[in-house]
Amino acid sequence: SNRYDVLVIGGGAAGCAVTASLLKRDASLRIGVVEPSEQHYYQPGWTMVGAGVFTRSQTERPMAQCIPEPAQWIRAAVTGFLPEQNTVVLEDGRQLAYRTLIVCPGLKLHWDAIKGLRETLGKNGVTSNYVLELAPYTWQLVQNLRKGRAIFTQPPMPIKCAGAPQKALYMSADWWLKEGVLAAVETEFCTAGNVLFGVADFVPPLMQYIDKYQTQLNFQHNLVEVDGEAGKAWFVVTDAEGNQQRIEKSFDFLHAVPPQRAPRFVRESVLADKDGWLEVHHDTLCHPRFGNIFALGDVCSAPNAKTAAAVRKQAPVVAENILAVLAKREVRAVYDGYGACPLVVERGKAVLAEFGYGGKLLPTFPLDPLVPRRLAWQLKARWMPSIYFDMLLKGREWLAKPSVLDHAPHRPTAVQACDF
Ligand code: FAD
Repeated sequence: SNRYDVLVIGGGAAGCAVTASLLKRDASLRIGVVEPSEQHYYQPGWTMVGAGVFTRSQTERPMAQCIPEPAQWIRAAVTGFLPEQNTVVLEDGRQLAYRTLIVCPGLKLHWDAIKGLRETLGKNGVTSNYVLELAPYTWQLVQNLRKGRAIFTQPPMPIKCAGAPQKALYMSADWWLKEGVLAAVETEFCTAGNVLFGVADFVPPLMQYIDKYQTQLNFQHNLVEVDGEAGKAWFVVTDAEGNQQRIEKSFDFLHAVPPQRAPRFVRESVLADKDGWLEVHHDTLCHPRFGNIFALGDVCSAPNAKTAAAVRKQAPVVAENILAVLAKREVRAVYDGYGACPLVVERGKAVLAEFGYGGKLLPTFPLDPLVPRRLAWQLKARWMPSIYFDMLLKGREWLAKPSVLDHAPHRPTAVQACDF
């Protein structure tokens, strides 16, 4: 039948992790996972593919091996929500009914926001580690560049893994330095924002690398157009008074990251917030108007860093709260906004940035988190793929026990778990 205790939209990091977390708690749950892709991607590894440290195949696995059994995999894409009927609509018109719903289809890269970019990606020295097919091209370009101007861009927030645009810079510049060509390569980091990293404590250690690589740091520079064949890029630059001006830069190498937004079926649904993200209470990850709908991962509106690391802490919170809703209990498990980003600053060293809501530092290890370390590099370059595939996706909740409050932080909403 097309009826589930829990229906999960998306079998990415969040969908697989929360499904595994639920099954660990109650293996008898009838769970459906709607996911159109035959492959599952370990996206945090793409930075390392772009740096020649990982191969492509280390970052992908067949979806069939990732969706935890005995959950049922529904090979389809969701196109709409009917939350009053506790039903979702699939692309072929089929409908699936649920008692509780978890929305985690990730986000979409908005390439068309930058004129000319899509046409030149993968050619003319233009690349992006945000696309698996292009990450090997990044590495090829880095190895071939001996002189000229290399530009790395970062769009307006929010984006997934806010550190990834600058990681591409550090890993490339580190290679050029070690090859002895950095003096002939002019590196520029152009960000639409006005800080290097959103959590101020991590800026000084990162600035040491900006200086070491002699990178020109350009704030409030938003990439709007690219002409790959001409090797030109245009930015809208905003000054302190808010005045805007369009400027042109020529490049020999361009690592571009596009703006990002929720998938259209979420953005245009009644479940979205004003910016299009799937609206949730930031602590319980429950939708504020539909008490049997939750969201986690990149699509949710919580203001945490959009990372797989965040999913590690969100999945058990959502699992606990789903069980509560199914049992008609109050929703009391809360998420602290944890997110993390191992900022690889050179081959062999990384700054392990771990923080929660409000930029509060939440280090896992009893070591000064502001120091670039070999241990953090080892974590990223050796252990993380298996932590991801063998722990996160399998519901092995390593240091991720959710906090459960004495009282529900929100009044229950009218719509609760329906009974069939
Ligand atoms: P995803 O993992 O993207 O999965 C979404 C899934 O939903 C996909 O399988 C998709 O096919 C499916 N889907 C989409 N539309 C539909 C639909 N209509 N119906 C059904 N299913 C649908 N995180 C870190 O923690 N550390 C890092 O160092 C790091 N580095 C990164 C570097 C790069 C270059 C990138 C791109 C990301 C990085 N991330 C990092 C971020 C991390 O990959 C994401 O935060 C994480 O994958 C989010 O999980 P998710 O399940 O929300 O989305």
